[in-house]
Amino acid sequence: MSEDNMKMPKFSEIEYSRPSVDKFRECAMSTRLKLMAARDADVVENAIMGFQREMSAFDTAYTLCMIRHDLDTSDPFWNDEMEFFDENYPIISDLSAGVYTALLHSEIREELEERFGPMIFRKTQNQREIVSSEVLDDLAEESTLETEYSQILSEADILFKGKHQTISTMTPYLESTDREVRKKAHKAVSDYFAGQKEKFDEIYDNMVRIRTQIAKKLGFSDFVELGYKRMERYDYDPEKVKVFRDNVVKYIVPITSEIRRLQKNRLDVEKLFYYDLPCLFVHGNPTPNIPQEEYFSKGSKMFGKMFSKDPSFFQVLGEHDFMDLFSRQNKATGGYCASLLDYGIPYILMNANHTADDIATLVHESGHAYAALRSIDSSQFIECLSPTLEACEIHSTAMEYLTYPYMEMFFGEAADAYRQQHMTLALLFLPYGCLVDEFQHVVYSNPDMTPAERHTAWRELEKKYQPDIDYDGDEFYELGGAWMKKEHIFTSPFYYIDYCLAQVCALQIWSISRRNRKKAMTIYEHLCAAGGTKTLIDLVESAGLESPFSLDVMKKLAYQVCDYLDL
Ligand code: ZN
Repeated sequence: MSEDNMKMPKFSEIEYSRPSVDKFRECAMSTRLKLMAARDADVVENAIMGFQREMSAFDTAYTLCMIRHDLDTSDPFWNDEMEFFDENYPIISDLSAGVYTALLHSEIREELEERFGPMIFRKTQNQREIVSSEVLDDLAEESTLETEYSQILSEADILFKGKHQTISTMTPYLESTDREVRKKAHKAVSDYFAGQKEKFDEIYDNMVRIRTQIAKKLGFSDFVELGYKRMERYDYDPEKVKVFRDNVVKYIVPITSEIRRLQKNRLDVEKLFYYDLPCLFVHGNPTPNIPQEEYFSKGSKMFGKMFSKDPSFFQVLGEHDFMDLFSRQNKATGGYCASLLDYGIPYILMNANHTADDIATLVHESGHAYAALRSIDSSQFIECLSPTLEACEIHSTAMEYLTYPYMEMFFGEAADAYRQQHMTLALLFLPYGCLVDEFQHVVYSNPDMTPAERHTAWRELEKKYQPDIDYDGDEFYELGGAWMKKEHIFTSPFYYIDYCLAQVCALQIWSISRRNRKKAMTIYEHLCAAGGTKTLIDLVESAGLESPFSLDVMKKLAYQVCDYLDL
C-alpha cells in the first residue's frame, strides 16, 4: 500500500454488496471435490487459492459492513446487513471446515505440508476438535447466555449526581481526585452489581454447565481443556500458565504493594481503600496538551520519525480515511483495528475523548495496524496472516512502549508523568490478569461449585494477587463479587491471560529499547512480519525474545521496572 498510494482507494470509495452464500457454497463444494481427488500438489494449490479468494471476499464484505455499522449504529441498512452476517457466518465456517478437512485427509498431505508449512494443518486439526454437529445447539445456548450478560451490562442505568449513567460514563467519577466523589461513585457501582448478583450468578452457573457439557460431548475431561483448544494454545498448557502466575505472585505482587504504599503517601490518606486505587496522582491523571484535532498530524509525524518513512503508514491510512478517531453519538464504543483483506488495508476505530487513554489507544491500535501491513505477504492462507491473540497483543502493547520517546509531542511537560502512569498500570495489571485466569481454572475444574462457593474462591484468590485491597466493609466485594464486573469471565473464557503473556513480551522489547533502540526495532519488525506463520513461543523466540514463561525474564523485568519507576 505505502509503495503505491495512487492505487489505494479512499475508505468511502470501497463499494459494498452483500456476498452470496450460494456462490460461496458452490466454491466450497467444488474445492472440496478437487482436493479429495487431486494427486498433484499444483492442482491442490490452485483449488485452495481459488477458495481463499472467495473467503477473503466474504470476510472483506463482513469487515466493511461491521465498520460502517460501528460508525453509525443507528443506520438500519447496516443493522440489517449485520444480521445477515450473524445468521450466515456459522454456515460459512462450517463450509470452510469441510474444505480444510479434505486438505487434512489428502493423500499427498506430506508434500502439501512441505509446500504450505505446518501451521494451516495445525489450525485445521484444532478447529475440527472444538466443534461437531453434536454440540451446535449447545453452542447456540452458550452464545445466547453471553449476549444476555452483555445486554444487561450495556443497559446498566446507574443514578449518580442526579443523572442516569452507564458503567462507562461512571469512569471519570471512579477516578476523581475528590475522594468523596470517588467513594460515592464506587458505592453506586457496587450497589448496581449487588442488585444484579442473583441474575449474573444464574447466567454464569448456566454458562459453566453448558460449557462443561460441550467439552464432555467433544471428548474432553473438562472445559479447561476445551478452553485452551479454543484459544489455540499450541505450545503451552495449564501447567505452564500456572508457573507464569506463580512467577507473577513472587516477583510482581511485591512491587505492586510498593506502588500502593507510595500512592497512599502521594494521596496523603491514612489508609488506601478500594475506591482510592484508580486515582494514582493527587492532581489527577496527565492529559494530552494538544487539542484532539492534532492527534492525526502528530501521530503521522511520530510514526514517520520512528520508521524513517515519510509519509508514515499512519498518515497514509488517515489521508485515505482508514481511521475514525473521535467519540460521537451513534458510534460504537471502544477501539479496534480490523483488516480489509481484499485490499490489504487495516482500519482503526477508536473513541478519543481527550484523556491520556486516547494516546495509549491510538498507539496500541496503530501497532495492530502496522503488524497487519507488515505481514500482508507472510502466508498464502488468510487464516495464517495474524497469529494467535496473545501474539497479536505483543504488536500493539510493544508499540505503546516503543513510542515512549515521542510522548512529549502529545503531553509536553507531562510526558514523564504519562510514562510513569502507563508503566504503573501495566504492572498493576499483571496480578489482576492472573487472578482472572486462575479463577476460571478453579471454576471449570470444579463445575459443580455453587455460586456462593465461586464467590468465596474469588475472594481467596484476591488475597493472593491483590493483597493490599481493602473494601472498607463493602458487602458485595467482601463476599467476593468483584469478578462479576469482568466481561471476559462471562463472554471470553480463558482469554485474559493472553494480555499478561503479551505484556511480558512487550516489556522485554521495552527493556531492550532502553539499551539498544535499533535492536528493539529489529525484533519488533521481525515479529510483525512473521504474521501468523508460527505458534506463540516459536514466534517470540525466533524474533530474539525469551519465552514469557521464563522465571529469569520475570525476575529481570521486575528489577528493571523498579529501577524505571524509582521504587
Ligand atoms: Zn489489542
